[in-house]
Amino acid sequence: MPLRLAHLVLLLFASPALAADRTIYLTFDDGPLNGTANILDVLQAEQVPATLFMVGMHAEANATNRALVQRVPLVTIGNHSYSHAYNHYRHFYGDTEGVVADMLKANAVLGLKPAVHARLPGRDVFRLPSMSKDDNSLGLAQAGREDPDYEFVAASGFWLYGWDHEWVHEDSGKPVQSVDHLVSEIDHLFGYGHFAKPGRLILLMHDEMFQDAFDGKAKFTALIAALKLRHHAFGAIATHD
Ligand SMILES: [Zn+2]
Repeated sequence: MPLRLAHLVLLLFASPALAADRTIYLTFDDGPLNGTANILDVLQAEQVPATLFMVGMHAEANATNRALVQRVPLVTIGNHSYSHAYNHYRHFYGDTEGVVADMLKANAVLGLKPAVHARLPGRDVFRLPSMSKDDNSLGLAQAGREDPDYEFVAASGFWLYGWDHEWVHEDSGKPVQSVDHLVSEIDHLFGYGHFAKPGRLILLMHDEMFQDAFDGKAKFTALIAALKLRHHAFGAIATHD
């Protein structure tokens, strides 16, 4: 008996975290785009939750995109701004009123009401009731300049989420890591990584990666299969607050 107990204790200390403590949050940015429909199909088939942080301007682009802003079970639609800062982040941030107005405009287009789950364009920033984290890639001066933007957006009914790891893509949208490589990165991170919240990995992806040209459905299905095999839990972003 004592020997068994000693083994159990050893096992507990040897495992950085038990599988049950490992939750992955699948998040997709910049939709609706080519690739969004494939994501929704796979989520439905696999019965896995995810969050799609959408861009108001993309949702307005055409009827196909408008139809992709779906309220379907397991899928949380989040706000990723109206304009996506036109990809000029340093110009966009610092104008606090403009940033708040852009986020509110996307609420109207996407049909979202507070509290709205949101991700700021180009910024890995958290502003949640339970925690706050700034974007480490910004210099101190820029971070200080943008801080009022984050605070006022949060105070306007938004919960802001950054990310812990990214499935990176090329300019074309083509995924950089293979599914196997990504999964090995996730394994390593669950063992040794520091997340915004312990044991909870927010994975950032972009809708355009999942278009047919890049075999999006098969790759996303393979990713989910690998994560299920490891008994990771799939979290809905609202439970990350
Ligand atoms: Zn984006």
